[in-house]
Amino acid sequence: MLELPIYLDHNATTPCDPRVVEAMLPYFSEHFGNAASRHHAFGWRAEAAVDYAREQVANLIGAEPKEIVFTSGATEADNLAIKGACEMYASKGNHIITCAIEHKAVLDTCKHLEKLGIEVSYLPVLPNGSIDLKDLEAAIRPGTILISIMYANNEIGTIMPVKAISELARKHGILFFTDATQAVGKIPVDVNKDQIDLLALTAHKMYGPKGVGALYVRRRDPRVRLACQMDGGGHERGMRSGTLNVPGIVGLGKAAELAQLEMLEESNRLRKMRDLLEHELLLLDQTFVNGDTENRLPHMTNISFQHVEGEALLMGINKEIAISSGSACTSASIEPSYVLKALGLSDELAHSSLRFGLGRNTTEEEIAYTIEKVSGVVNNLREMSPLWENRNSR
Ligand SMILES: *Cc1c(COP(=O)(O)O)cnc(C)c1O
Repeated sequence: MLELPIYLDHNATTPCDPRVVEAMLPYFSEHFGNAASRHHAFGWRAEAAVDYAREQVANLIGAEPKEIVFTSGATEADNLAIKGACEMYASKGNHIITCAIEHKAVLDTCKHLEKLGIEVSYLPVLPNGSIDLKDLEAAIRPGTILISIMYANNEIGTIMPVKAISELARKHGILFFTDATQAVGKIPVDVNKDQIDLLALTAHKMYGPKGVGALYVRRRDPRVRLACQMDGGGHERGMRSGTLNVPGIVGLGKAAELAQLEMLEESNRLRKMRDLLEHELLLLDQTFVNGDTENRLPHMTNISFQHVEGEALLMGINKEIAISSGSACTSASIEPSYVLKALGLSDELAHSSLRFGLGRNTTEEEIAYTIEKVSGVVNNLREMSPLWENRNSR
């Protein structure tokens, strides 16, 4: 039986896998030790669990366990990477390069640093959501210390040309940081093949718990150093102080292990359903996909429905289907998505866009229902709308 509402917002967060919860449970009450307690079995037990999780996370991205720094999530990892590198390498320069469609955790961090005298180049994106490597090369200058470009975008799923970016960064002796929060666990990511120096990830986007994530910090060739942004007991090799969230870290580790085991099969299953959903919705007139349809995460699509009022579209759907739209509600107003705007969409079109994010529990029945529901709402709204009637005369 189909249960409503259907959850298709897996880019915002994912349910914790029951196997992850099961792995975490003993570390709340039974094995509750502080991983930094060096003098007794309670501490050793917690430390062993953290070490094991560190291996699981490292394995998923081709890293060494010692290169993993646990954080409270990707937002913190983004802050630590960018602020930590700017502070550590201040003598080398004060310029960083990022791009217009990064997550706010990166963009707002850069804005903050601008107030402190760091200069930031925000690369535009091509209509497919990718950066132009020529723009990147042109932005590089003698004082550039960091390139921060996401692995895959959270709204449109476009995968950036990471290998080519890292080659450019290497050629110029610049560190390369990537916010890989949406990519890790969904597609193969390897910090050595991709020559990544710093990488952010989070558990709750890959069926782990909220409030825990990690920053990968390269230790060799080159050895990357960061100024810590949280002072305290010198945990995590001095890069992130604070008592470790042992159950959370165990959950992140288990989520990483499951992702590694099941990624290929899961992404094939989700890609098939995503392609069907997309194909059926594109049968509607004046409907198109945002972002690159080749270099893209397999489990999602972002579709614009021309001549449909965005709020009415969302309202017509979201009681039954939990989904994200191209509108971001700020405290004062509803703003069109800055990501879709950066691709060149009008405000109106950005508002009439929907992001469908499929996940581990998504079923074929749910996709069939979604196709029917969304098509029905779009057709109804268009029938009632003067925008649609006048579409050819405008
Ligand atoms: C979700 C997300 C974040 C924030 O992660 P948290 O763990 O929730 O702080 C950062 N970057 C990207 C690309 C994301 O999708």
